[in-house]
Amino acid sequence: MCAVLTMISSTLNAQQNNLAYAVAWKQTAAEHAALYYQGFNIARMQVEAALSKRSDFGKPLAIISDVDETLLLSNSYWGYMVASGNDFFNDAEWDNWVEEDLFTPSPGSVEFAEFCRLNDVDIFFVTNRNQGVSTFDLARRNLQTAGFGPVESDHLIVLRESSNKEVIQQQIMQDYEVVVLLGDNLNDFSRDYYVTDVDERRLLASENRRNFGAKNIIFPNPTDGHWIRAIFGESEPPASNTNREMLHSAASRSAWQKAQN
Ligand SMILES: [Mg+2]
Repeated sequence: MCAVLTMISSTLNAQQNNLAYAVAWKQTAAEHAALYYQGFNIARMQVEAALSKRSDFGKPLAIISDVDETLLLSNSYWGYMVASGNDFFNDAEWDNWVEEDLFTPSPGSVEFAEFCRLNDVDIFFVTNRNQGVSTFDLARRNLQTAGFGPVESDHLIVLRESSNKEVIQQQIMQDYEVVVLLGDNLNDFSRDYYVTDVDERRLLASENRRNFGAKNIIFPNPTDGHWIRAIFGESEPPASNTNREMLHSAASRSAWQKAQN
């Protein structure tokens, strides 16, 4: 392709990429980092409160945490998607990228994990990643490279077949006093949020408002999660013009109906 065409093509990609605002925010906004610090500050306060009455529980203390976009950030993947003109999540590209081990720890996460370790508070890492048979080893390597190691094998739970985390959460709660659950997706806290209705999810969040900052600590994720599923009916909608129109319609659902003169 000649230089002019390459420039036009890259300009069009830059203009049309639906991921650009969300990814630019993840890549640059100090507010993005501040929300992670805020979340881990609250988590630490909850752990400190639990430690002060530890003898009341009769069980060891634990945290249950999601992995991706909670403890590990994948900005390099999303940056690649925008740079290469992809405007929807691409599972094949994701699987290739995960093997590269380029995750970075989310702001405040490693310090929080260290605080837990020093105070004998266990962290259970629960993820519904699926990179086939190597999923567990990849997830453990990614966590350890980012500074969460060593990760014991019975503290990393990989749910390849389902994103329903409630069963394993209940099992952990039998043996541990779980102080908080950490996640970037409300499904990390309750399966109730696994519904394909935007308004129903928002109503549930409103009903559960007291949990946020208490038992559940939510981190920001504007690029992926079950909020996407509520719009498109699937968590990883393919890049198609129909889905681009659906995204546009979701973004303008409360649009001002400006009077025409
Ligand atoms: Mg996640």
